[in-house]
Amino acid sequence: TYKELELATDGFIEANVIGRGGFGVVFRGILSDGTVAAIKVLHREGRHGEREFRSEVDLLSRLNSTYLVGLLGYCADQHHRMLVFEFMPNGTLQHHLHPNSGHRNPALNWSIRLRIALDCARGLEFLHEHSVPSVIHRDFKSSNILLDHNYRAKVSDFGMARTGSDRINGQVLTRVLGTTGYLAPEYASTGKLTTKSDVYSYGVVLLELLTGRRPIDLKRPPEEDILVSWALPRLTNRVKLKEMVDPALQGQYSQKDLIQVAAIAAVCVQSEA
Ligand code: ADP
Repeated sequence: TYKELELATDGFIEANVIGRGGFGVVFRGILSDGTVAAIKVLHREGRHGEREFRSEVDLLSRLNSTYLVGLLGYCADQHHRMLVFEFMPNGTLQHHLHPNSGHRNPALNWSIRLRIALDCARGLEFLHEHSVPSVIHRDFKSSNILLDHNYRAKVSDFGMARTGSDRINGQVLTRVLGTTGYLAPEYASTGKLTTKSDVYSYGVVLLELLTGRRPIDLKRPPEEDILVSWALPRLTNRVKLKEMVDPALQGQYSQKDLIQVAAIAAVCVQSEA
């Protein structure tokens, strides 16, 4: 209930704000049973009508996987719309890879990055293969990957997720939403959305993990808008691959692992293009 969530967050005080997103403000709170939770308070003027909110809650509550940030509950009354998620103490992957301070967290070593890549693959696999109907995330990126206290990753933010029930031949025609740098080029140009669009975004996240660079910095030269044309030839060339690897990972990886991850990233960012 609203009262319980108000109590959990000390009255939604500023000190308990852990993030702000496009659709609302996220608070840290302690529920009455002692569970720490992330409570997302949705903007009232947002696009959330009663029906949309119910169907989002309905979708979220059906998606139970270790690799997805789980919904613990929700609050919907006349004045409030809130979603209660499990709390992820290490925040977003983006925060650790590209911190504002400039000092990257050394905890993010090669083996942890590999595990994060695997956890995310399982999260997406769950959405694509094990949900009925299958779900396309539509905004998979490092700021939507959350880390628990052991740096295990879970995929989050299904605010834009869409089920495949209304698809024709595996494609859904939609208005193009998502984040620049992660968008599959064929989706950006045609609006045809498939699970493969998420696979492209996954490839971009692999590149982030491998290089420590933001997707935007992987697009060189600047006038070229498609990552594929710049990064792909380098990933498939062993010598050039070395120059792309995050210097923080020096001496941590085996050559075989490195080439494997790069090869998968290269296949993903080719997507359907
Ligand atoms: P956006 O709408 O920008 O995709 P969200 O509204 O989902 O982002 O979340 C905003 C911020 O709140 C995130 O960047 C993250 O730092 C934090 N956050 C969201 N969910 C959780 C969670 N379950 N545990 C910990 N922090 C979270």
